Amino acid sequence: MTKDEIVEEIKRLKKKRNAVILVHNYQIPEVQDIADFLGDSLDLSRKAATTKADVIVFCGVNFMAETAKILSPEKTVLLPSEFAGCPLADMITLDKLNRLKKQYPSAAVVTYVNSTAIIKANSDICCTSANAVDVVQSLQQNEVIFVPDRNLGHYVSTQLNSKRIILNNGYCPTHIWITKDDILNMKSFHPEAKVIVHPECNPEVVEIADEVLSTGGMVRFAKNTDVKEIIVATEMGIIYRLKKENPKKEFYPASPKAVCSNMKLTNLENVMWSLQELKYEIEIPKEIIEKAKISLEKMIKIL
Ligand code: SF4
Repeated sequence: MTKDEIVEEIKRLKKKRNAVILVHNYQIPEVQDIADFLGDSLDLSRKAATTKADVIVFCGVNFMAETAKILSPEKTVLLPSEFAGCPLADMITLDKLNRLKKQYPSAAVVTYVNSTAIIKANSDICCTSANAVDVVQSLQQNEVIFVPDRNLGHYVSTQLNSKRIILNNGYCPTHIWITKDDILNMKSFHPEAKVIVHPECNPEVVEIADEVLSTGGMVRFAKNTDVKEIIVATEMGIIYRLKKENPKKEFYPASPKAVCSNMKLTNLENVMWSLQELKYEIEIPKEIIEKAKISLEKMIKIL
């Protein structure tokens, strides 16, 4: 089949299944182009919670599709590639979380959405990179266990002096490739450029950012700024969207190494197969859904 034929077949199947295609900003260009909604974890969580479709095809990684299932348990949620996981999400286990809870019994547990359903179910509240600071600030407790990402947790701690943040040693293997030297090097070629950085980057990279933003925040910043050149420190996939939506501006990836192999496992073929065969369906035990939903819904109310 040609690419156009596959796209036509996806459209036909979407109608037949009453399906919606949610696509994360890091996906490959062809997949971004077939999105009904394109966005970051927070945008897509909200869409998943409100869509009237019967089937959600989630073009992203496992924890994102799980989040959609938790928010819309009555819907069929499909992940086109069964191997699209997230190493960061796997860097906190229930055993490890329980040990932290025992060590800090009065602390609230804030869990980044880049986490498994079982961890969300054992948390007080979830957050995304877009609302992490607001979520932590909203808590009554002064002590917070923040999992799984140490860099996002560290960033939150630099914004809120009033809270003690207990970090877990997890990290995104894609974002930690971006170094301070990468940014300084790009700045030397493009001295007028603004530097926008995702908070999953290392602290020394975040420190030299002009703006620290989620991918959704980057999309809005790129649209609204008068600046014509922007150095982008996050996964490379977002550059396609930024250029497409802002053809008169220049976007430079901070590092060509910032590629998430899991995000590249979804393609037009497996989206089509996913709709044809209703696979790979996300299934989560009911009791975990019920508990995880409370943490996610509290998050969605903030912002
Ligand atoms: Fe996970 Fe990092 Fe890939 Fe996002 S970019 S899915 S956090 S490994």
